[in-house]
Amino acid sequence: MSCFRLENVSYRYSRSPVLTGIDLALEPGEILGLFGHNGAGKTTSIKLILGLMTPQQGTVSVLGGTAGAPEVSQHIGYLPENVMFYPQLTGSEILNHFARLKGASLEQVPRLMEQVGLADALHSRVKTYSKGMRQRLGLAQALLGKPKLLMLDEPTVGLDPVATADLYRLLRTLRDAGTGIVLCSHVLPGVEPYIDRAAILTGGTLKAAGNLTALRRQANMPVVLSVIP
Ligand code: ATP
Repeated sequence: MSCFRLENVSYRYSRSPVLTGIDLALEPGEILGLFGHNGAGKTTSIKLILGLMTPQQGTVSVLGGTAGAPEVSQHIGYLPENVMFYPQLTGSEILNHFARLKGASLEQVPRLMEQVGLADALHSRVKTYSKGMRQRLGLAQALLGKPKLLMLDEPTVGLDPVATADLYRLLRTLRDAGTGIVLCSHVLPGVEPYIDRAAILTGGTLKAAGNLTALRRQANMPVVLSVIP
């Protein structure tokens, strides 16, 4: 069962198309890098997989079910690009809140905070967190309930090199345990060593998808890859 499968998917918010004829799938135990410049359609693709919107054309299936169905959504973890939390609450209170919303056990909260390097900040208010700490709290939130599909939008923004390396190590461990992971990014360096496949969106169409080493051998790829400096 695929983590998700987009078949001939097109989407427009108003008149101009944002995504056109997208075919893309993610299998369990795989890290897919979804690349493209600002406005290329990465977040729109994620929203379609989350079931927040329905495409005007094509089909979106997620974990063998319908995108947005509660029994599907409970197995998805999502870290948006700009993560925001109530500053007056502690990290623990926030994760407990999201765990309840997700129907996940509260017992996992201290372990998740430790996993993302926030054990010492468990009971500190989020207003005292640095940007990187908030980002890691966002990751812990996304990991609640052991998601089968994890989607991360620019997850390393605001993280220092050590925290970035820690994050990728964690993602590899999750991948090896069978989680399907999507990493959205504008840029390739730093991300490349950690992904199994790349998908490159330009102007709402999928210009390439596959193993990066193989993609680089294709004749037109330098042009396509130049959108992800
Ligand atoms: P970024 O890297 O800047 O986050 P992205 O690749 O995630 O960009 P999207 O956010 O999917 O791109 O946006 C794709 C296009 O859709 C852009 O032209 C954007 O202006 C447009 N768009 C996004 N959200 C809406 C909306 N709610 N209403 C109208 N147009 C939108």
